[in-house]
Amino acid sequence: MPSALRCLRNTSTLRRVLLAALAIAEATSWTRAGEPPPPTPVILVSVDTLRADHLSCYGYTRFLTPHIDALRDEGTLFAQTDSVIPLTMPSHTSLLTSTYPFVNGVEENEDKLGPALPTLATILQSKGYRTAAFIGGYFLARRFGLDRGFDVYDAPFSDSASLARPLDLKRPAARVTEGAIRWLKVNSRPPFFVFVHLFDLHEPYNPPASLKGRYGADEYDAELGYADEVLGRFWSFLKRKHLYDQSLIILIADHGESLGEHGESTHGYFIYQSTLHVPLIVKWPKGSRNYARQVATPVSLIDVAPTILEVLGISAPPTFQGQSLMDLASPGAPAAEREVFSESVYARDRLGCAPLRSLRIGATQYIEAPKPELYDLVRDPAELHNLALEEQALATSFKDKLEALQSRYASMAKPAAKASMSPEVAANLRSLGYLATSAPRQALRDSGPDPKDRLDEYRQFQRGIRLLAIGRLWEAEATFKEMLNDHPDDVVGRYDLALCYLEDGRAYDAVMQLKSALRADPHDVQAEELMGTIWVDTRQYERARAEFKYLLSFAPEDYTAQYGLGLVADREKRVDDAIRHLKTAVRLRPDSANAHRALGEAYLERHSYSSAEQEFTEVAHLQPRSARAYYELGLALEKEGATAPAAQAFRDALQYNPKLLAARTALESLRAAH
Ligand SMILES: [Zn+2]
Repeated sequence: MPSALRCLRNTSTLRRVLLAALAIAEATSWTRAGEPPPPTPVILVSVDTLRADHLSCYGYTRFLTPHIDALRDEGTLFAQTDSVIPLTMPSHTSLLTSTYPFVNGVEENEDKLGPALPTLATILQSKGYRTAAFIGGYFLARRFGLDRGFDVYDAPFSDSASLARPLDLKRPAARVTEGAIRWLKVNSRPPFFVFVHLFDLHEPYNPPASLKGRYGADEYDAELGYADEVLGRFWSFLKRKHLYDQSLIILIADHGESLGEHGESTHGYFIYQSTLHVPLIVKWPKGSRNYARQVATPVSLIDVAPTILEVLGISAPPTFQGQSLMDLASPGAPAAEREVFSESVYARDRLGCAPLRSLRIGATQYIEAPKPELYDLVRDPAELHNLALEEQALATSFKDKLEALQSRYASMAKPAAKASMSPEVAANLRSLGYLATSAPRQALRDSGPDPKDRLDEYRQFQRGIRLLAIGRLWEAEATFKEMLNDHPDDVVGRYDLALCYLEDGRAYDAVMQLKSALRADPHDVQAEELMGTIWVDTRQYERARAEFKYLLSFAPEDYTAQYGLGLVADREKRVDDAIRHLKTAVRLRPDSANAHRALGEAYLERHSYSSAEQEFTEVAHLQPRSARAYYELGLALEKEGATAPAAQAFRDALQYNPKLLAARTALESLRAAH
């Protein structure tokens, strides 16, 4: 670590210690004499995809968001907060680890957070906090690794059966907060940390019918109105339980939504304010000193976790890269300017473009790209007038600062093991409106065309995957074919066209497209995985085996290959081989209900009933409402002679699906036999 940086860190540690002491002193003042201060509960609410400027407390005039606004009555509104990266999983990773994406390695939704970095949850858990997360959307599913440090991680997003039109990727706000309320009813004694993630504002929209009219035709605003109402009910619950006043409650969004600005309809591709500017409202625990009602200094989402720790008097680990916001919120604090960094490598990973990186100081936003951009956000908040050519000296000084920031932290970078994208993850990405990657990302370089110059291709791609997701297959097919006319070697385009054919029942045509894709890139993991999966589904087991073995030759840790080889072996009655491959699949993806189920079934065939019972128990844990999971668990228990638990499992199966005839028959024959 350079000595200047070490010095900086020591100063901030000292400040942290002093402020923590102050916070403790203040906390003591509001408790009755003789009683230790109760530890402050922490509630962090992330409203995914929420633009700050659609909240009435941030100046929106089309309708009110009274419940979100209410937090600022006893809190501080940070008027200029930027996301570090406008994608769900990477942004939440930066939020909870207080690190830059190029350091923590999570730069795409499909990336997994490794075990090395402490997160807000692991830190609070180690300090005796009970920790619970209630998740609204697929990108924060367990498999991506943010569940570390949470005692309870309620994220019931399972693998999908259909590759083109997956389901179960989001759940409504009311279901998410119901989980949180249920947990808080029995865990309300501080200290606790509750993380609530609402995914309603993320496409595809599905607001409750009763709300559609109230917010006009705008479905995005209708979803926001719905989320606000649900949060209002959640605050009421907290007040009834006397938890609202004493809690530190923080509301953020992971990124905004472009809604057509700059030619982008959603988020992830560009890094303009339309997707970077997010709300940040901090409701301080009752009895805190008077903080500023509003802070105008630009800050970053990576500053949230250090702020929470400072309020609690817990020192931040050396891995944290954000700075606490408490000094900015303190009355009379000098408005020290901060460097706010953001990035997106989405267009690089999807279309081979150059990455985008930006630095904001005060009102000036600089975006590093082959055609750099510079904006004055006060005079030009919509970023329509690029000043990079007029203000070359300023642009150059920002470029230097941006490079200095990156090199300052580069040595701390922990590149995440870039897992290959499995067909299910790719399919889920598509149905949420994202493009899948093609080449292994290690091979991608930072040179490439400017994403601004590839916008048309990106939009065409997005149109195609949307059409595919809603089942308009012919139009999707035409869109991808048109794209491939211009870019015949586009592996992702070929893959998407293959998916169209597959969904249309045209397996042969799909195989032809995948073969073209693999001619362009013989090591394309996704194309290989899909090809092998098609061979399994069409019962061409020899071909499937060859495909998956070839895939393992260059991607030895590939889950789909191990799972596919397990299925093939099972169908060919080679039970020991099946168990070997499926055990590996389960090791590679412990949250795959499909892999646990297939392994359980192989154990049943080998009469290893207690092992089968374990696997089916895991399936029931991963898919708590699955009738089939309980039915199969019942079968294993029955074989073990555990009659009463077996009967209970069959009854559970019937509770979730009263029409599951096999469970009824099994239950009746069990009764008849005993
Ligand atoms: Zn998001």
